[in-house]
Amino acid sequence: MKRWLFHVAALVFLVCCLALSALWVRSASWMDTYTASSDSYESAGWGVMSADGELSFHLAYLKFASDRNVEGWSHHKVESWGVGDPVYVFPGFRLYDDTDYRSDFMHVYIAYPWLIYLFAALPILWCFAAYRRRRIQQRRRRGLCTACGYDLQGSEGNSCPECGTVRQQAANPNGTEGAYNSL
Ligand SMILES: [Zn+2]
Repeated sequence: MKRWLFHVAALVFLVCCLALSALWVRSASWMDTYTASSDSYESAGWGVMSADGELSFHLAYLKFASDRNVEGWSHHKVESWGVGDPVYVFPGFRLYDDTDYRSDFMHVYIAYPWLIYLFAALPILWCFAAYRRRRIQQRRRRGLCTACGYDLQGSEGNSCPECGTVRQQAANPNGTEGAYNSL
């Protein structure tokens, strides 16, 4: 992967992670919903809801026109939101299939901590990669083996006598090795 792409992706994921954390805190007392649907007879629509520590996605197929069919954003205090029994449950994840004579609904609820872990993975990986790059640069400057830290000053040969890593003295001005370039 190109390194700049990794930097940009890590930054975007970090911003998402912070935004999800803020929404998580807000969801304890507020229910925010966005609904996109049409008022026409037999319409399909979708919505997103943030409430009660969960982010949820809703797909609907309405068999009759309904005054519940409100488009746009809405914000209210959290209230109970009954949709029957889930058809699939996994810790932090619930799936509902809510079908009756009026409508066909599909609801997916995902707990915020899962989403936050998901988006935190890349920024954490970025921190590890940055730390490793920095350590390699420091070892190279001090004349140490970049892999194991063995002092190569005064030693002969093209590879580290301790671990066998081939020496790459100032050949790569970026201070990185092939293995680390993959990130
Ligand atoms: Zn070594």
